Amino acid sequence: MIIGGGIAGPVAAMALEKAGVDAAVFEADGSGSDGVGAFLTLAENGLEALRVLDLHDQVCDLGMETPRMRIVNSRGKPLADFGMRGRTVRRADLYTALRDEAVRRGVRMEYGKRLVDAEVTPHGVRASFDDGSTARGDLLVGADGVGSRTRAIIDPDAPRARHIGLLNTGGFAQGLRLPEPPGVATMVFGRRCFFGYYVHPDGDVWWFANPASRREPTAAELAAITPEEWRAQLVELFRDDHGPMLDIIAATETIVPPWNTRDFPRVPRWSNDRMVIVGDAAHATSPSSGQGASMAIEDAVVLGMCLRDLPSPAAAFAAYEQQRRRRVERIVKQGKRNGTGKAPGLIGATVRDLMMPMFMRMVARRDLMAWMFDYRIDWTVAVTARG
Ligand SMILES: Cc1cc2nc3c(=O)[nH]c(=O)nc-3n(C[C@H](O)[C@H](O)[C@H](O)COP(=O)(O)OP(=O)(O)OC[C@H]3O[C@@H](n4cnc5c(N)ncnc54)[C@H](O)[C@@H]3O)c2cc1C
Repeated sequence: MIIGGGIAGPVAAMALEKAGVDAAVFEADGSGSDGVGAFLTLAENGLEALRVLDLHDQVCDLGMETPRMRIVNSRGKPLADFGMRGRTVRRADLYTALRDEAVRRGVRMEYGKRLVDAEVTPHGVRASFDDGSTARGDLLVGADGVGSRTRAIIDPDAPRARHIGLLNTGGFAQGLRLPEPPGVATMVFGRRCFFGYYVHPDGDVWWFANPASRREPTAAELAAITPEEWRAQLVELFRDDHGPMLDIIAATETIVPPWNTRDFPRVPRWSNDRMVIVGDAAHATSPSSGQGASMAIEDAVVLGMCLRDLPSPAAAFAAYEQQRRRRVERIVKQGKRNGTGKAPGLIGATVRDLMMPMFMRMVARRDLMAWMFDYRIDWTVAVTARG
């Protein structure tokens, strides 16, 4: 039983199928995937992990190739410019493509099934859902995202996700003719707010912004901001910056309402005898890492291999954790680091602008970031109990 039909869920189901284990996915929401955030970039390592399950073709028609990233400051001064191999896709499109392919491969997807509880029984796991139904399986994989119910079932003392001082918003602007080549990610360290944009080959501009918020606003506080107020706030944040941000905001009909950004420095327990967590449930990282989806995909593939090769779920979960924990925690740290400087305050902004070129030159150095991007999973290698 896989809980959650986001990214990690369907990919884990397909990895399990490939490993010879039948899987069913239970997703809390209905079958549509509207409103699941704007877009994300799959990094090279994530694309390669999809390739292990022959899922590369399912994503290569989505969104746009992202071959380069350029980083500028609030005066438009270049801080870094480097090549990359990523793909930027609308989250809803990615969810739909993965779910459809999972179903095509024989995975059962059940919608409207929000996990409320699960217990280990002598023969497996019994899960209960908020519609009053139950299901049984040999094991349960929690791919239920940053607010994971599975995580809390495995460890009621699990820490809560940490607010990282930034909000998220974005949208899709139409009718602009920006000079940037298609797909190039342009990141702007504005005076008051961070902004990123990509020109799609069809001319639309995909963008996001990270307004600072020291305190984590409640859902009610966020919901109380009207679209007009929100647009006005964004205009105010970028009014003194060099770049097309104000044009992009003006050319966006619907700005995605703001939401909080959270991460987990460390989730102490990932599994019990029959349950395990993958993806954001185990290690949500700040969007600034650009790796959340890729980590979720890698987790799912590695878990499939461990369950294929080890004699018991507990042994498989231990090997999975051994292979994954160090890497994902390092990425969470990197994401936090990348996010600092996005909301620096006035003195901080001056220091940041002095230090940033050096830091960005490091981020741009392929050899220094090889540990992140060059990670590859070899499905043909047998996993042993030592990982
Ligand atoms: C604004 C933003 C920008 C991002 N940008 C990037 C980026 O550029 N690159 C990148 O790699 N990553 C990015 N990410 C991160 C990425 O979206 C996540 O890391 C990724 O979606 C994690 O996948 P997941 O399957 O673990 O969780 P999710 O995609 O969150 O899926 C969890 C699923 O579980 C379901 N669910 C939740 N609770 C239950 C329950 N109790 N019962 C049943 N189902 C349940 C949810 O409805 C959802 O469908 C970004 C995230 C955000 C918010």
